[in-house]
Amino acid sequence: MGIQSGLPAGFSPDVYDVIVVGAGYAGVVCARRLAESCGFKVAILERRGHIAGNAYDYADEAGVLVHKYGPHIYHTISDRVNDFLSRFTDWTDYQHKVLANIHGTLMPVPFNHRSLRLAFGDERGERLYQKLVDTFGENKKVPIMELREKNDPELVEVADYVYENVFLHYTMKQWGQAPDQIDPSVMGRVPVFVGDDDRYFPTSTYQGMPAQGYTALFERMLEHDLISVFLDVDARDLLRLTETSASVCGRPYGGEIIYTGPLDELFGLDLGPLPYRSLDMVFETLDVDQFQPVGTVNYTTSEDFTRITEFKNMTGQVLPGRTTIMREYPQPYEPGRGQTPYYAILDDANRDLYKRYRARISGLVNFHCVGRLAEYRYYDMDGVTASALELSDEIISEHN
Ligand code: FAD
Ligand code: UDP
Repeated sequence: MGIQSGLPAGFSPDVYDVIVVGAGYAGVVCARRLAESCGFKVAILERRGHIAGNAYDYADEAGVLVHKYGPHIYHTISDRVNDFLSRFTDWTDYQHKVLANIHGTLMPVPFNHRSLRLAFGDERGERLYQKLVDTFGENKKVPIMELREKNDPELVEVADYVYENVFLHYTMKQWGQAPDQIDPSVMGRVPVFVGDDDRYFPTSTYQGMPAQGYTALFERMLEHDLISVFLDVDARDLLRLTETSASVCGRPYGGEIIYTGPLDELFGLDLGPLPYRSLDMVFETLDVDQFQPVGTVNYTTSEDFTRITEFKNMTGQVLPGRTTIMREYPQPYEPGRGQTPYYAILDDANRDLYKRYRARISGLVNFHCVGRLAEYRYYDMDGVTASALELSDEIISEHN
């Protein structure tokens, strides 16, 4: 049915079986599943001027394919997610590699065998590595917070080095808090790796970039006669919720509503804002073939920005003489200032606040929250896709 800007005159929600808010992974995966499995007619409302949510990519003025909302690398261990998304794209065999700039020396992150030798010298690095192997086994992921609990003096030395030079300053920039003040699952995303594999996601079974980019993947997912996308439409202007019913455009709505935006926004933040961190992404095009050796370099001991991404290194795009890089400057998030809420700040108090908002919709059987924002989770693309597939399963089984 296509993608258009704004709602057509006389738009009637009742024509649709499903209203989806948000055209990111959460919304579009649900839309596609419900259209093709139930024959549901779906309207997607998206307040931005484009599809694909935070995975959106586009060719910049220099012709470089860039990711507007930060570097996105597809990786998963889920067959189901991979089977589903692979219907809409081929993948390149890109394997993401990250180097940390530690006082001017580039070392692999996750911190691994090679990083140890670079940090401590070949001989001592090898000894320390053997100690790690003896303690944890080879090809094992060890969260830094777990490594820090060990009492052995050599392991303490490694843990202190990695904590100070990889995690402490980067995390202070990213979150405004030290690693030990943050939910352990966040640091656990980038464990020390006891092995030689220098990929950022060494245990993901599927990894790569969509061959024509993420926006193209979304265009294909949306290519369905029963799906219409309305861009530049803020659902908050149309949607009203009470404890027992939902209305769209001023009339009670009996179809399914799938909401993928921030939950607090639906209620005017009246219990207080759900805390997030934001980022300022600063792009720069340079007249060189290549700026840095890998997709992303993390600045873990210096600079105000956390990392620099060079898109051509990830997409494999061949474009001699120019390249575009992007620096990420973390920011506190303040609702109403036009920033993007990129990262939920996960702690007990914030999870409780989320639950209180969530309780507001518990009586609404046709209203569903899914996605990184609506579930207030630190999801990667595959986690959101899995969650959207599960929600679709539930809705499909209710209607069969
Ligand atoms: P979103 O992509 O945020 O989509 C939600 C959509 O809803 C948005 O388009 C928004 O405009 C719209 N919306 C919200 N409210 C309204 C409203 N009221 N009316 C209409 N529309 C509304 N994942 C990976 O797997 N690999 C990576 O390398 C990776 N890198 C990342 C880097 C950064 C900097 C960030 C922040 C995230 C990264 N992610 C990565 C995570 C990935 O971006 C998310 O998992 C995924 O995009 C979430 O999809 P979503 O649909 O839940 O949310
Ligand atoms: N982190 C760090 N140093 C690094 C890489 C990661 O301190 O070199 C910490 C930081 O707190 C970050 C978290 O680990 O927010 C998760 O990192 P990841 O790369 O998964 O973050 P994302 O890509 O989601 O921004």
